[in-house]
Amino acid sequence: MKNADGVRNLEKIVRLAGAQDMMVVVSAMGKTTNALERVVELLDANKEEQALTQWVDIIDFHVAIMKALGLQPGVDIRLQGEIPYDPNRSLDENYDQIVSLGEIMSTQIIAVYLLKQGLSVEWWNMPKLLRTDDTWREAIVNNATSAATIRAGWERKNRPQIVVAQGFIGGTADGRRTTLGREGSDYTAALLGNYLDAESVTIWKDVPGILNADPRLEPDTILIPELRYSDAVELSYSGAQIIHPKTIRPLENKRIPLYVKPFGDPEADGSCISAAVDHPVEVPVYIWRKNQILITMRAKDFAFVLEESLSEIFDIIHRHRLRVSLIQSSAVTISVCVDNTRFVPEALEALKEHFLVSYNDRLSLLTIRGTTPEILERARAGRTIMLSQTTRRTARLVIKNDE
Ligand code: ASP
Ligand code: MG
Repeated sequence: MKNADGVRNLEKIVRLAGAQDMMVVVSAMGKTTNALERVVELLDANKEEQALTQWVDIIDFHVAIMKALGLQPGVDIRLQGEIPYDPNRSLDENYDQIVSLGEIMSTQIIAVYLLKQGLSVEWWNMPKLLRTDDTWREAIVNNATSAATIRAGWERKNRPQIVVAQGFIGGTADGRRTTLGREGSDYTAALLGNYLDAESVTIWKDVPGILNADPRLEPDTILIPELRYSDAVELSYSGAQIIHPKTIRPLENKRIPLYVKPFGDPEADGSCISAAVDHPVEVPVYIWRKNQILITMRAKDFAFVLEESLSEIFDIIHRHRLRVSLIQSSAVTISVCVDNTRFVPEALEALKEHFLVSYNDRLSLLTIRGTTPEILERARAGRTIMLSQTTRRTARLVIKNDE
């Protein structure tokens, strides 16, 4: 949602779906999360004045939406006055305290607006309900505690029909806010669906549903109406980032169907991911993973024992929270392609203690499922391929990014 019309459209969707026994999970408005990240960066760089200007812009943006919806800032909704920044805390902890406010503000606006439209609504504060550890910016959810709390809240007598809750954020046992990783709202919705044995979960996006390729990268995309959970997991890694990769598992575990529908056209069919689908996707699927780094390890002493090295390498990879997208080994080297996250530099240092390490960054990984020789040839044309793995139906190409 990025403006007042978005909020009105949400009301329409809620009513279309019956406005009963429904959990509405909302992410931050427009580009608020990025703007809040900027505030954190500026504060960390001791640029208080610029941070404050940026902060005021964010507040103004929300105030304008409230006014357009006929809500009174300060009366209907109390806004956060000061930036919750504490120089004694780590950068990442400050990040979570500040960036989580995007969802707090969006859900307050939506809950109050829906209430004023005569709906039966309750606002939930997820930092108190979704318990996580304190892995700032990438917090790990404690499912047992969270499920118990959330079930109790949901099953409460006289609970209003519609609960509005924040996606993407949770909280520690001692009451500090956490975030679950960028684009994590879908994941929250899936967890809540799992805890409450939902009939279904629907994710509203600004695309018609799940497509076979990122429309920004492939000219002719096709909507996939039905998918198996396993296919959805792979597709969730696509460049379009239609659904957060962690979304599928909690739903698959309880066989809860997941719909992906266009926010702007709520009555469209979109895509459905469910246990009832038993056939693979029938069209070729292009899955891009951007921002990859290819790390190659070689033995220091020529005595490269593959099995031993593997366990060492994977131990380091695991400890440094790297996300592996591809592995290839030869007699003397092992290469892994991983997401180039902020955890990579330290992992490289650790690997260098045991191996001769070289790497290439600024890479993309293209996976083509349901490929044919012609499709593969077209995909390779004009590109620098650093590494490729192909089977009869699937091709995976590590590609150097164009300048
Ligand atoms: N607002 C968060 C983000 O932009 C979470 C989400 O959008 O799912 O990353
Ligand atoms: Mg978002």
